[in-house]
Amino acid sequence: MTGQRTKWGIVGGGVLGLELARQLAQSGDRVVVFEAGTEPGGLAATWPIAGTRWDKHYHVILPTDTRLISLIEELGIGDELIWRRSSTGLFADDTLYSVSSTKEFLALPSLRLVDKVRLGVTMLYASRINNWRRLERISAARWLSRWSGKNAYNNFWKPLLRSKLGDNAEQASAAFIWAIMKRLYRARTSGAKVEKLGFVRTGYARILDALLEAAMERDVAVMTDARVDRVVPDSEGGVEVVLSSSERHSFDKVVVTTPAPTAAGIIPDLTAAERTNLERIVYQGIVCTSLVLDRPLSDFYVTNITDDGFPFTGVIEMTTLVNPDTFGGKSLVYLPRYTTADDEAWEWSDAEVVERSVEALRRIYPHFEKADITEAKVSRVRHVLAVSVINHSASIPSIKTSVPNVAIVSSAQILHGTLNVDETLGVIANAIPVLRSMTTPAKEVIA
Ligand SMILES: Cc1cc2nc3c(=O)[nH]c(=O)nc-3n(C[C@H](O)[C@H](O)[C@H](O)COP(=O)(O)OP(=O)(O)OC[C@H]3O[C@@H](n4cnc5c(N)ncnc54)[C@H](O)[C@@H]3O)c2cc1C
Repeated sequence: MTGQRTKWGIVGGGVLGLELARQLAQSGDRVVVFEAGTEPGGLAATWPIAGTRWDKHYHVILPTDTRLISLIEELGIGDELIWRRSSTGLFADDTLYSVSSTKEFLALPSLRLVDKVRLGVTMLYASRINNWRRLERISAARWLSRWSGKNAYNNFWKPLLRSKLGDNAEQASAAFIWAIMKRLYRARTSGAKVEKLGFVRTGYARILDALLEAAMERDVAVMTDARVDRVVPDSEGGVEVVLSSSERHSFDKVVVTTPAPTAAGIIPDLTAAERTNLERIVYQGIVCTSLVLDRPLSDFYVTNITDDGFPFTGVIEMTTLVNPDTFGGKSLVYLPRYTTADDEAWEWSDAEVVERSVEALRRIYPHFEKADITEAKVSRVRHVLAVSVINHSASIPSIKTSVPNVAIVSSAQILHGTLNVDETLGVIANAIPVLRSMTTPAKEVIA
């Protein structure tokens, strides 16, 4: 074999960094991934809980996540993918409702007949819109109130937006909710009659392990506990990655996959305009509590909350999908609180988060008692999702930067819509041709 092997450095060993590494290494290129954490996986990483290893943050797969399903099959674990029917709850006016079917939804007392008709019209209208540019100029709150009316906004759209964005919901553009509606519409028209959600039998740990193994088979090296401090051009036209331990590694090209503010911090040679752009992207964070319980809370996978005053933005009961035997017969419940940068919850200790959650859970599930909790863990991440605010597309970072051979590929490049692994894989698909077109210094020729 004769050819040029480009040497790539990738900053960030989340799903994006690992899969990008695997794809770049497919053609024989050499790839090294630097991950700051003690293990790869980022937001999809796992931790020990309920006597097993399970996702720090709840993850499910939609039937329409075609890129992700193909990847799972390619990794040889397609037969471990399990599909389950899921149901949805809504806590409104101090009552827990099932809203798993259109019929149940239409029976909600908080929505009048006129609201229901206007909601239907809004969804149909949104599904027909193809050009999101106009929608990006108006807030979701204004656009939805205009189309569905104030009552339907307050009792339907607002809790939905808050369950995805927390207090950042006020800043979201109409393009964000449009993208969600399009996705749901696609799911409905793809033939799925009931809402099915998928997961891999032993959780995301299995997907990450398989991804890591497949990357390593292609000679990708993954360094953990390797926090990157700086990415700077070297004197030979390449790029140097400097770790916080002061260790230095040289590459032909480097791709930074971290959240945008981190990218701005570690690439000192960016122009002022590039830096400002990366730093002004509005991120939402998360404080996510995992509770292991002696008994279930409900039959709902997701419960959205309309009422104010809750310390979390929704309730996710994983064991309505995953067999409780996986967790020694216990129930696994996540209580996500999507946060703004200045949310008071950043100051809460783990014990305080749990204490507040107990009180709030008792409001929704009167049978729940604090003694039901056998284990509690809290995860905090400041930069989870770039919020699709007004004119968001103008701040999407370009893949190539002004620094030669340094690129940014990250979830901040998801145009509109929610953060999910399928979208992440779409970001990679768009990036690969651009990365390959960056000029390669021919440092190494293998004969
Ligand atoms: C609560 C929650 C629920 C979710 N649910 C779903 C779901 O149901 N379905 C779904 O498909 N997706 C879901 N997601 C989204 C999914 O987890 C993400 O789309 C995906 O993990 C993003 O991967 P990433 O590699 O882009 O980012 P990240 O996972 O954030 O990876 C970035 C990596 O960079 C590393 N890093 C940062 N700074 C440095 C540095 N200086 N040096 C070296 N490394 C650094 C970080 O440690 C991290 O590992 C969920 C996410 C959350 C938080």
